[in-house]
Amino acid sequence: MTAAVRIAAPEGLTLPTYADVERAAERLKGVAHHTPALSSATANRRTGASLVFKAENLQRMGAFKFRGGYNAISALSPEQKKAGVLTFSSGNHAQAIAYAGKLLGVPTTIIMPEDAPQAKVEATQGYGGEVVRYDRYTQDRLEIGNRIAAERGLTLIPPYDHADVIAGQGTATKELIEDAGPFDMLFVCLGGGGLLAGAALAAKALNPDCRVFGVEPEAGNDGQQSLRSGKIVKIGVPKTIADGAQTAFLGDLTFPIIQALVEDIVTVSDAELVDAMRFFAERMKLVVEPTGCLAAAAALTAKVPVEGKRVGVIISGGNVDLASFARLIAPSA
Ligand SMILES: *Cc1c(COP(=O)(O)O)cnc(C)c1O
Repeated sequence: MTAAVRIAAPEGLTLPTYADVERAAERLKGVAHHTPALSSATANRRTGASLVFKAENLQRMGAFKFRGGYNAISALSPEQKKAGVLTFSSGNHAQAIAYAGKLLGVPTTIIMPEDAPQAKVEATQGYGGEVVRYDRYTQDRLEIGNRIAAERGLTLIPPYDHADVIAGQGTATKELIEDAGPFDMLFVCLGGGGLLAGAALAAKALNPDCRVFGVEPEAGNDGQQSLRSGKIVKIGVPKTIADGAQTAFLGDLTFPIIQALVEDIVTVSDAELVDAMRFFAERMKLVVEPTGCLAAAAALTAKVPVEGKRVGVIISGGNVDLASFARLIAPSA
């Protein structure tokens, strides 16, 4: 039995539901890794909570985005698959689409910022994606994406504001709760909200009492402002080491879901992200990218009181080039 949570959709849009998450889980079975749910005595001692980490840094291509990308391409018609897909991304969604396209035999074109980490650009090209670069501080990626998609007859799969992407991302939380739940609280990192919206759909269906929190970088708290003001707030591209959460606004699909199901959005500093990266490397032997540490940083520093609670934490990704990783976690002299 799953509780049906009804959420009012904006005019003309259809929001994904938990049934879509279940359908995505079927498509991903045997394709996406069923990543482990890990605990750490040190983390529990530090917080007085019982924390369970969902290690999506160990997902195929190194982040949960494989789930949404593969689900969205799988859902296309044979004609759409033949023509190919296009997306824009600062990195992990690009790799997800390129890799899923390769597995499904669908050609992929990726619009990427000039300053995207080189490891992410090369990985995307390595999976067979055609990369087109743009300047994210002066050019509008949506405009560029729409123009190229129209010229080439491609289907646009945006990184978060898409029902099948949201549903695919929700499968990570479905697995986490089925493996290790129920939880009192769940912490999820937040960029454009695909992961958080999917997580909230799964959590509220499987574990209705679970309080869901989004976590953003301090420098880019547009989601927090949006949730608290009741409308989508747009900000400039935030400067933070959490490059996967440099989105400037939530989506028309992700926002209403977050508004209905998420209790609050909290923020963490870049210094707190670095502490969490060090904790994962030293104590749990995990390589986690800065953005992947958002939820853990909030739980470890108890941005919301966690003592005595069972807490789920999504580690969202591990794609960081070795030089940046080494520089960030190096002990300061
Ligand atoms: C994309 C991404 C996020 C943010 O996900 P949204 O669905 O945009 O909120 C967080 N962490 C990592 C590693 C990502 O790649």
